[in-house]
Amino acid sequence: MLENVTTTYDAVADVVVVGGGATGLVAALKSRELSASVVIVEANYDIGGHAITSGGSVALGGGTALQCRYDVTDSKELLYSDLTDWSIIEPNGAPDYRYNDRSLVRAFADYSVPTFNFLVANGVEFDEPPESRPSTLPLEDIR
Ligand SMILES: Cc1cc2nc3c(=O)[nH]c(=O)nc-3n(C[C@H](O)[C@H](O)[C@H](O)COP(=O)(O)OP(=O)(O)OC[C@H]3O[C@@H](n4cnc5c(N)ncnc54)[C@H](O)[C@@H]3O)c2cc1C
Repeated sequence: MLENVTTTYDAVADVVVVGGGATGLVAALKSRELSASVVIVEANYDIGGHAITSGGSVALGGGTALQCRYDVTDSKELLYSDLTDWSIIEPNGAPDYRYNDRSLVRAFADYSVPTFNFLVANGVEFDEPPESRPSTLPLEDIR
């Protein structure tokens, strides 16, 4: 079968995304949104990458529309502290999150809501009630 697979292409595009996993697909979508032509090169027989086997748990927060719908009070600052300082819920702050890269978490917290909106606008459906909530608020409280 493999000898019948086409391995050479003659295509020109503004953006070539190597890898059609969760991040590659988003990069391709964003490029299309900016009116660029896009080619995705994927080594596997299908797109999806590791997300195919992922548990599907999406940690976007910071005040998404879904959180607001369930009266979950969250903010960029709370999301940032949740991901960097677990002394909020454990006095010794032992969980590994305290070692997270601060600039990366800052960007994650700042762009969490826009990312959520981007995904919804592109057809992603999120489970309800929302999984993401401030660590100060037990999940049971929003069920
Ligand atoms: C079992 C499991 C459960 C998980 N559960 C969760 C969860 O609940 N919540 C969560 O947020 N995250 C979860 N994750 C992590 C999450 O799935 C990954 O972080 C995410 O899918 C990574 O996406 P990616 O696009 O960065 O990389 P990848 O998914 O690795 O995508 C890379 C893609 O590039 C392709 N590729 C590689 N090399 C080449 C090449 N040379 N040429 C062309 N294509 C190439 C690969 O085939 C692949 O499709 C889980 C992961 C696993 C394995």
